[in-house]
Amino acid sequence: MSVNYTAYTITGIRLGMADLYKQVDNRGCDHPETKAKFCKECGSPTWIQEEEPLFDEGTEVIGKFKMMFSTDRNFVYLGHTVEVDEYGTHDAFRPIESVEVQFPALIQLNDELAAVLEPLGLWDQEKFGIWTVLHCSY
Ligand SMILES: [Zn+2]
Repeated sequence: MSVNYTAYTITGIRLGMADLYKQVDNRGCDHPETKAKFCKECGSPTWIQEEEPLFDEGTEVIGKFKMMFSTDRNFVYLGHTVEVDEYGTHDAFRPIESVEVQFPALIQLNDELAAVLEPLGLWDQEKFGIWTVLHCSY
């Protein structure tokens, strides 16, 4: 069994994963709606409350930004990402070399993130910054 440690530095925004889902009420069947809790024709609930993601679960992308996750997947990071990772067993683990970072244009990045996240109700200027995350997958 191998372990993968990945260090990310993300210039951008951190969001709570729970904030990326919205509660929606969907009809439980296609029969005409009544005020009853269940459909009298098929017995299905009249309304079913479900969570819908505000992002594409297949690509894990919002706008043009790839979602980067905390190890527990309670947080997601969006922005300009620099990634350093190490694959294999602990025996194979070695010190990570330094990485030269091409620093993004902060005002442009801030505006691009805001343009993507504001329509979703997810933009918070206070959460924009530089985040360093050590992600472990096993
Ligand atoms: Zn029905």
